[in-house]
Amino acid sequence: MPDAAREAAGRADRALGAYLGLAIGDALGATVEFMTPTEIARRYGVHRDIVGGGWLRLAPGHVTDDTTMSLALGDAIVRCGGWQLPAIAASFGAWLRAGPIDCGNTCRRGIRRYLADGSLTAPPNDGDAGNGAAMRNLPVVLASLDDAGTLAERALAQARLTHNHPQSDAAVLALGEMARRLVADGDAVGCAGIAARLVADHPAFRFDPYPGRASGYVVDTVQTVLHCFFRHARFEDALVAAVNRGDDADTNGALVGMLAGARCGAEALPRRWLDRIDQVLVRAITAQTSALLALSRPQGAS
Ligand code: MN
Ligand code: MN
Repeated sequence: MPDAAREAAGRADRALGAYLGLAIGDALGATVEFMTPTEIARRYGVHRDIVGGGWLRLAPGHVTDDTTMSLALGDAIVRCGGWQLPAIAASFGAWLRAGPIDCGNTCRRGIRRYLADGSLTAPPNDGDAGNGAAMRNLPVVLASLDDAGTLAERALAQARLTHNHPQSDAAVLALGEMARRLVADGDAVGCAGIAARLVADHPAFRFDPYPGRASGYVVDTVQTVLHCFFRHARFEDALVAAVNRGDDADTNGALVGMLAGARCGAEALPRRWLDRIDQVLVRAITAQTSALLALSRPQGAS
């Protein structure tokens, strides 16, 4: 295989690994969302199977807002053949109106604001430091693989449709750039530098020693995700560690799944999990991933 073709195949595998990893983490974590680690241990020992249930009474292999909002965002990029923020806002509006299984408070408030007045930026709000903007950012990464500046600009724009808070911004940028480097270059080493810079610029995000909180507050989320991602080299170990912290387990699982899936690639994802994911969803993710990657090529750049 020529070098360019091998490189493209590696990117495609890592991109799909990130997106399917996100869905796997969401599906696995949803079962134990809002439980404490003690409750999880009592009920499951170690929770490691995609069995559905949880407070949302999810069907096995189905996913929640983390994955479906990502798909709504990615779908708007693909349909427009590039970046159109109003189309993304409209796609979130359609997603909310269709009655998703779950929607976080800040996301709901932001989308309702857009539906009411058409505005594309949430006003700054001390209460907007949830993880809802960071959890859905992967399609932006996949459509902006070759340009960190473009990614940062777009990531902040989509984030602020619903979340306008410096900690949300910092998390969206850092996790987005980590995913970009992993998918674009397979650069796991560069991720450590990005995490170190995040902590230097925003000491609240310090994750070593790990404070042990796994809530939907974006600082807790980032600490849990980075702790699990860096501590465990294997996809399965990182994900099991994250979801067994409970609390916002589906979102923490989705984000660990995204990073660890980009690191190992789709071919290396555990079959027993991948086979449990709803196949309609797997096909939608696979199709969207290739369409987004096609837009990342220079002629699709904007
Ligand atoms: Mn969710
Ligand atoms: Mn959640």
